Amino acid sequence: AAVVPTIDRARLAELTAREQERFVETHPRSRAAYEEATHLFGKVPMTWMMKHAMRFPIYLAGARGATITDLDGHTYADFALGDTAAMAGHSPGATVAAVQARFADLGGATAMLPTEDSQWVAAELTRRFRAERWSFALTATDANRWAIRLARAVTGRPKILFNSYCYHGTVDESLIVATPDGPADRPGNVGAPVDVTQTSRVAEFNDLDALAKELANGDVALVVMEPALTNIGIVLPEPGYLEGVRELTRQHEVLLLIDETHTISAGPAGAIGFYDLDPDIVVIGKSIGGGIPAAAYGVRAEFAGAILSRTDLDIIDMGGVGGTMAGNALSAAAARATLERVLTDEAFAHMIGLADVFAAGVREIFARHDLPWSVSQLGARTEYRFSTTPPRNGTEAAAAHDQELDDYFHLYLANRGILLTPFHNMALMCPQTTRAQVEEHLTHFDAAVAELLGSRP
Ligand code: PMP
Repeated sequence: AAVVPTIDRARLAELTAREQERFVETHPRSRAAYEEATHLFGKVPMTWMMKHAMRFPIYLAGARGATITDLDGHTYADFALGDTAAMAGHSPGATVAAVQARFADLGGATAMLPTEDSQWVAAELTRRFRAERWSFALTATDANRWAIRLARAVTGRPKILFNSYCYHGTVDESLIVATPDGPADRPGNVGAPVDVTQTSRVAEFNDLDALAKELANGDVALVVMEPALTNIGIVLPEPGYLEGVRELTRQHEVLLLIDETHTISAGPAGAIGFYDLDPDIVVIGKSIGGGIPAAAYGVRAEFAGAILSRTDLDIIDMGGVGGTMAGNALSAAAARATLERVLTDEAFAHMIGLADVFAAGVREIFARHDLPWSVSQLGARTEYRFSTTPPRNGTEAAAAHDQELDDYFHLYLANRGILLTPFHNMALMCPQTTRAQVEEHLTHFDAAVAELLGSRP
């Protein structure tokens, strides 16, 4: 971990302990609910919910827009937004109305029969992300998984290439990192079905030479990437990198999948619109359902044609793609309302404007306290990190991680009504986030920094 010399670790531990105590004292109902949750694996509904800076998780009571209320009656300005799944804000009105109409008024959430909403959603996804033929999933993981299978089938090549320390969901092939001794399982890879180097290749983000070398092996079907890494903090593409990836993949006749699940923060047409990208396959999940599970992958018309003309590939039953509840009527209704009425051009202008204020404010705080830390931004998404220069790739980003500092700031802010994403220091704006909430974060973050440094804000 990057050790910033100005940080007194003993003081940090003391302050964190003080904040822990305050959290425990002020959250008795969350604590009781957690202590009673003995039938849950890890005492949480899904094991990732064990990840938080507190002794026990905050229990959700309700949420609207950018504001969460917990079981103890505290309210929070929510900058985590369900790690992007609630980027449209919690329970946005238009999505609630569409879900009510579909599920309650008309009835029929999941019938294995199409509704007209899915064509509307697919056309809108084409307008935003260019790919011409869309298919739906419930999670971005599944959308990636199915697109990977189709890419292997079309190209007849076995391997998939990923960036080191990428995240694309629990996709077996993706859990690979580059190490000084060569490619290896991502640390902690649980029950890997086969050695990941049999299925995958890896190159560092922003490293075209490494990519060229890997693609020269001639066995890669598909490159799967985020146009900016977002799951190990934000790592932005250097000038020319994304163009270089497209050139190299074309040169080696390798397909390129852009996973827009998080980078949609860049604007209404995501990073594809922002950086003017031309991928072969696009994946988007989480936010498009406005809180109802929905995800999608899109391909070029020729790609869809190539698959549809293959009699040896079973895409209509048990051949390895698709799922019973994927493309269900409720998800389609929710996605239509969310894309048409919530995640609009105007909403993005508001969100990105606030993220600009957030990032500028944090930069000013670092400068005033003489801290060699940095802030990255991708549209509506910001991230501060405890390293001097923003990392260039996933390995540098992973090395810059500082759990003690993360825990302190997360706790300090949670105790004062501000939530950051538990996985890192990401703050995302939604259409209902207010300038006052951004200012509130800056005030408390400034105070947290000042206390840590033993100065006064
Ligand atoms: N792709 C990206 C870029 C992601 O960030 C994530 C989740 N963080 C996923 C895919 C997987 O999404 P899900 O967990 O909903 O399947």
